[in-house]
Amino acid sequence: MLNYNGYIEKLSEEAAETYALMNPHTKEEIIRIPECRGEQMEQAISRAEDGFEKVRYMTAFERSEILDKVSQIVSGHKRIFAETVAKEAGKPMKYALGEVDRTVQTLKFSAIEARKLEGESIPLDAAPNGAGRDAYTIFEPIGVIGAITPFNFPLNLVVHKVGPAIAAGNAIIVKPAEKTPLSAILLREALVEAGLPEDAYLVVTGDGPRLGEVLLNSKAIKKVTFTGSPEVGREIKSQAGLKKVTLELGNNSALYIDQSQKTRVDDIAKQAVTGSFSYNGQVCISTQRIYVHEQIIDEFIDLFKQETEKLVYGDPLDETTDLSNLIDEPSQERLLEWIEEAKQLGASVVAGSLQVEGGLEPTILKDVPREAKIYKEEAFGPVVIINTVRNSEEAINSINHSQYGLNAGVFTNNMKQALQFGHELNVGQVLINDLPTLRFDHMPYGGRKNSGYGYEGVKYAIQEMVNRKMISLNYK
Ligand code: NAD
Repeated sequence: MLNYNGYIEKLSEEAAETYALMNPHTKEEIIRIPECRGEQMEQAISRAEDGFEKVRYMTAFERSEILDKVSQIVSGHKRIFAETVAKEAGKPMKYALGEVDRTVQTLKFSAIEARKLEGESIPLDAAPNGAGRDAYTIFEPIGVIGAITPFNFPLNLVVHKVGPAIAAGNAIIVKPAEKTPLSAILLREALVEAGLPEDAYLVVTGDGPRLGEVLLNSKAIKKVTFTGSPEVGREIKSQAGLKKVTLELGNNSALYIDQSQKTRVDDIAKQAVTGSFSYNGQVCISTQRIYVHEQIIDEFIDLFKQETEKLVYGDPLDETTDLSNLIDEPSQERLLEWIEEAKQLGASVVAGSLQVEGGLEPTILKDVPREAKIYKEEAFGPVVIINTVRNSEEAINSINHSQYGLNAGVFTNNMKQALQFGHELNVGQVLINDLPTLRFDHMPYGGRKNSGYGYEGVKYAIQEMVNRKMISLNYK
């Protein structure tokens, strides 16, 4: 039976201290987690170098088979993985089960891509003095990768780094979020069971800045891949020197609903409530800013409010629960302050805005000015803004008025308008007739501006985890 206890006990033997991992809903201790020291990270790096020597000589077929097998193991242990996510992250089971399903897909895509690391043939005779040479490229693994991950998708976002790393023949060390380390450890046990060499994927638990510094300063770490907040992302990039870096950061995702959607406002409002409030909005592409054409905004707000009122607060382990506690108290306090500030700047409250037992009510604000923090910053909580726009130009201008640029969504029947949004939105992904809260695990996924640097999405993550080498053959 898969479990995380053995790995945690081993790490604890070396760690000077442990900390209590709390269930954010019950506020009870789940287990004590090792607060690893810098030397432990150094030891893990050295073990991962040994792990790399094993993985790099495995064939693409062998790596693919391991990834395929682990996808089956995770699928076969779906409930254990989902309950682990639900307990440590406070994520309602319906979303935790969804995360496990996506994880299985991410592993399957990794297994497929492991077999498809294809180079190209280069016509060197296209250069004036290049005649008589054939050339081609191959991809080589880069070595040991350091991954630092956030709390909100403690399984699938780890897999978005581990799957591609193994597919490419690398070893990887994950420093998971302090609040959610268990899923990453459980995944490791599944990978070892699937046949991955013990040291090819290691998890080191504990403090971000302390362990991150060791990873970032180690010559053995060839790449750092980070998912988390822009503040920490900036810090990581400044410390990374010449290492390869990928940064998947935050967003204040926007959605535009055009007047052509009059006949389906009901359906869009239902979808948008899920986009704004699933996992309490603690999703990097949560639908935070909604711009609605002036002709349909009143109807949209009414329907959105009615749908929001149906959400059920409860224990994450209960499958009927929609909303549970935020990950911690400071997040709640920050949001209450931002709501208050928006009100003072002229926004009105359509619903919510109050602290309730265990959490914050799902909150709908309208007419929120651009200078309000809840507009400018990433909410990462159950607060949504609904503002009026008069036409598509104003919608494009409003969506682009952001320090972020990850996903944006547009609902319209107008083809020309759809293309205009596709070209003019300054974001990494434009979703026409979908919410911005949409990600399939094989699609390219990366942000602009403060949303990040580099791409994930299995194939694209792999491209950032390999070295391209060209080999030229002079046959004259
Ligand atoms: P966070 O930035 O607080 O922490 C992320 C990780 O960084 C944790 O493991 C933490 O221990 C570590 N860390 C903290 N300080 C560090 C330092 N100085 N050096 C090295 N590591 C350090 O983020 P969080 O609160 O766990 O997650 C929420 C954020 O993640 C949001 O901004 C959200 O938008 C973002 N996110 C982005 C994506 C994406 O794909 N773009 C996906 C999920 C979450």
